[in-house]
Amino acid sequence: MRAIPPPQLTFTDVLNICVGSISCQTLTHKINAINPQLNNAVQDFDTKSATADLFQIQPFVGADKTVVIGQVTKEELKGLYTFQMVPAKKPARQYYDQIMMQAPLRICPFCGFGQVTTLDHYLPKAKFPLLSIFPKNLVPSCADCNKGKSAGIAKSKSEQCLHPYFDQGHFINEQWLFAEVIQTIPATIKYFVQAPNNWISTDKARVKSHFDDFKLAKRFCIQAGDEISNLRGELDIDFKINQQTGVEHALLKKHAGASLQHTNSWKTAMYQALAASAWYCRGGFK
Ligand SMILES: [Zn+2]
Repeated sequence: MRAIPPPQLTFTDVLNICVGSISCQTLTHKINAINPQLNNAVQDFDTKSATADLFQIQPFVGADKTVVIGQVTKEELKGLYTFQMVPAKKPARQYYDQIMMQAPLRICPFCGFGQVTTLDHYLPKAKFPLLSIFPKNLVPSCADCNKGKSAGIAKSKSEQCLHPYFDQGHFINEQWLFAEVIQTIPATIKYFVQAPNNWISTDKARVKSHFDDFKLAKRFCIQAGDEISNLRGELDIDFKINQQTGVEHALLKKHAGASLQHTNSWKTAMYQALAASAWYCRGGFK
């Protein structure tokens, strides 16, 4: 998980451009008429995101054709995003692209390795249609993370996955992602979550929810498998020079490099576990 700066765009910027490009006048009028309610929803999001209480926002349970507020249906609110913000030729696409650029090197902040290809609605637009084009609800994401999370919505603080714009500080700087080496040929890496003891229980639960929601155990394991097969040749040289100690030092250096960049990345946890495994350093890497 990586923290990224929230977009500096205001909701009004995005709403005005989206509404301005709607071709149906009736729809334009209907959406303009609910402007106060839309702004209330956005303010509510701002208030609750400050205390990690977004789960308290009530989901909308009606079908697509159901009116959410005023005379505007869920389908029409979702359409603001799908038809006015996503298509390449629409003027609001500039905002879509701008939000995508919030992720450095276009790396997905949820998993920390996938390539950003889309925007994820932190609160899904199907359940929170009033927030379908709110910039702080839109997070650059890889396709797998975007698909992975859509299954359910958090019903408690503990069930909320991390939000890259708001969950910074200890979630980023303190280690909660760890791994262990499984003695197979080739070696495999098993990832797990172990939050610091002094964290409050909801924060501990949230990193676990994040890990589970995005199916990171399996996805990190695949990344690690690829890296481990690439390591073999390099570690062979280290082993020839200084046996187990040579391999251990090489892995410690790689761990130091990875952890300097990201405390909780699949690479940091993997190198930490590999360097600590006497079995691996003695020859398990072969
Ligand atoms: Zn991802």
